[in-house]
Amino acid sequence: AGTPRIFSGIKPTGHLTLGNYLGAVRQWVETDQHRADALFCVVDLHALTVDHDPARVRRLSRQAATLLLAAGLRPELCTLFVQSHVDEHTRLAYLMECTATDGEMRRMIQYKEKAARERATGGSVRLSLLTYPVLMAADILAYRADEVPVGDDQAQHVELTRDLAERFNQRYGHTFTIPRAVLPAAAARVMDLQDPTAKMGKSHAETSGIVYLLDEPDSVRRKIMRAVTDSGSKVAHDRDEQPGVTNLLEILGACTSRKPVELAEQYSSYGALKKDTAEAVLEVLRPVRERHAELCADPGYVDGVLRAGAQRARGLARPTVDAAYRAIGL
Ligand code: ADP
Repeated sequence: AGTPRIFSGIKPTGHLTLGNYLGAVRQWVETDQHRADALFCVVDLHALTVDHDPARVRRLSRQAATLLLAAGLRPELCTLFVQSHVDEHTRLAYLMECTATDGEMRRMIQYKEKAARERATGGSVRLSLLTYPVLMAADILAYRADEVPVGDDQAQHVELTRDLAERFNQRYGHTFTIPRAVLPAAAARVMDLQDPTAKMGKSHAETSGIVYLLDEPDSVRRKIMRAVTDSGSKVAHDRDEQPGVTNLLEILGACTSRKPVELAEQYSSYGALKKDTAEAVLEVLRPVRERHAELCADPGYVDGVLRAGAQRARGLARPTVDAAYRAIGL
């Protein structure tokens, strides 16, 4: 009972995409911050798991925080902060490394995919890419979060977090709350417009398949009008047979609060579907872009929000992490 505690994060590995917005941020703004004690974190340590540029990470962290405020997070309702400002995350991550197993880490789908991609391009895999889910578990458990609103791609990491919390509690006494993933009702997985079998991801190289929240309206229109559809001409909601059309229906549905399956019946041409999808997306993005521009003119405000957020987060995390250190024998 009582107000649930929510934790969720976003990595500053690229510019925020429509997928981040529809899959995560919109729920944070419209629902989560009103119904729960919600903590939202720009998880900058997680941005160091792959090849990175220091100045870019710093710039993207600030941009992500600014965009989250622009999207409608209100500091009087929720706690917004940057992960590296709160030492408790890395302190607890070590204890989680001592709780997780090597095999468990290597089974994570995201690790397998990202490690394969690194290797394919001749890069080396950072150890932190393997241990990423352990740090993510610490992010969540440090706040005794009840719920973790995430897109479908993060569900496996939240499952792992539950396993680690249960294992720790069993071995060393009750310390952590067992969290659960909460997936969005719609658009849990927005796909790339040029490759609708792949997730629209901000960490990927910039392509015309990705809509960014700060894209110019003309660019958004162009990207959506050029989206890959399917060889037929029927508009059907069918993820396997018509992934491109289905992705557009999902996006349009999420932007207009309509059911994608019902929308499918209303369209007989791809052109009309794309046009309406583009306009619906622009409608959703316009206020975010406008407020982002206003907030950029007032960097002191964003700094103040992040400072206060880190202070509150520290106060919540420290007693839990201290308790975990005692429980494990330190
Ligand atoms: P990314 O994969 O874009 O780097 P993050 O790992 O920072 O994104 O995730 C931030 C949030 O956005 C997570 O809750 C994640 O599940 C969600 N998310 C990311 N991409 C998508 C997508 N294409 N569709 C739906 N949700 C997404």
